[in-house]
Amino acid sequence: MITVSHAAVATVAAIELCGASPVLVEIESDYYTMEPEKLEAAIGPKTKAIIPVHLYGLPADLSPILEIARRHHLRVIEDCAQAHGATYRGRRVGSLGDLACFSFYPTKNLGAIGDGGMIVTDDAALAERARQLREYGWVERYVSHLAGLNSRLDEIQAAILRVKLRHLDADNSTRIRLAGLYDRGLQGSGVIIPKRRPETTHVFHLYVVQAPMRERLQAFLAKRGVGTLVHYPVPVHLQPAYRSRLRGGENLPVSERAAREVRSLPMYPGLSEEAVQTVINAVRAFCPDYS
Ligand SMILES: *Cc1c(COP(=O)(O)O)cnc(C)c1O
Repeated sequence: MITVSHAAVATVAAIELCGASPVLVEIESDYYTMEPEKLEAAIGPKTKAIIPVHLYGLPADLSPILEIARRHHLRVIEDCAQAHGATYRGRRVGSLGDLACFSFYPTKNLGAIGDGGMIVTDDAALAERARQLREYGWVERYVSHLAGLNSRLDEIQAAILRVKLRHLDADNSTRIRLAGLYDRGLQGSGVIIPKRRPETTHVFHLYVVQAPMRERLQAFLAKRGVGTLVHYPVPVHLQPAYRSRLRGGENLPVSERAAREVRSLPMYPGLSEEAVQTVINAVRAFCPDYS
C-alpha cells in the first residue's frame, strides 16, 4: 500500500499490522500532502491501495489520486484523522475514496475523552467486513467467520462524540478564522504560512509554519510563554523502527526538509484572538534575528 512518510506513524503502522508492505511517496512542498505526480512511479504489480493523508486539516489532491487509482484498479483509503469536516471540491473528505478512517483521539477536530475511531465507506461489502472485524470476526455472536479483533468504540465515547459532532462545523469555522488572523499577522514575517489548496476547505487541525531556524524560533517563543510543537520531527522512513527498510524511503528530500523546518503554532477553537496576536507579535519580534 502506498502512503507518505511525512505524517503520523499510525498510517504506516496500520499497513504493516494488516500484513501489507508500505511504499512511500513524496509530498508536495507547498501543501505537505501526497504528490500525485510521484504516485504512478510508486505503483507496482502487488500494489493494492493508496492512502493519502489529509495532513494538518488540508485535503490531499484527491482528483488526480483517484484518477490514477481507477486507471490501475487500486482502492483509495483516505486518512481523515486530521481533517474532520474538511471539503474537497464541495464534498466532505471521507466521501471520495473507497473507504476512509477517522480518529477521535482527544486532540483531533472531533475528539472523544479517550481513544476512538471510525471507518466510513459506501461499499456495502467493505462495511460488512469492517463490522465483522471490529468484533472478533463474528457474524452471529460467539462465532467468528474471520480472524478479527476487538476494536469496539466505547458507548460512553460514542455518546460524547454524538453531541460534539453538532459543534464540529462551528469549531472548524473558529479554527479557520484564527488561521486567517495568523495569516495576516505573519505576512512578510519571514516564516512561510500554510497554503490553501484551491477548491478545498482547510480545517486547521494544526496551523503549521515553515521556518529554517525553527529550533531558535521555538526557544524564542518559549521564553515568551508560547508553546509550540513539531508535527512531525522525524519522517517515518528515518525512525529507528523503520529506518532503511521501507520502500521509497531512499529519495524523499521534500519530506525530510519539511520534517526539519515545520513548527505548529497554538491552534484550537478555544484560543482567543488576543492569544493569537501575542503569538504573532512574538514571531515578528524573532524575525529581525532571523537571517
Ligand atoms: C491521529 C492520527 C492517526 C491515528 O489515530 P489514532 O486514533 O491515534 O490511532 C492516523 N493518522 C493521522 C494523520 C493522525 O493524525
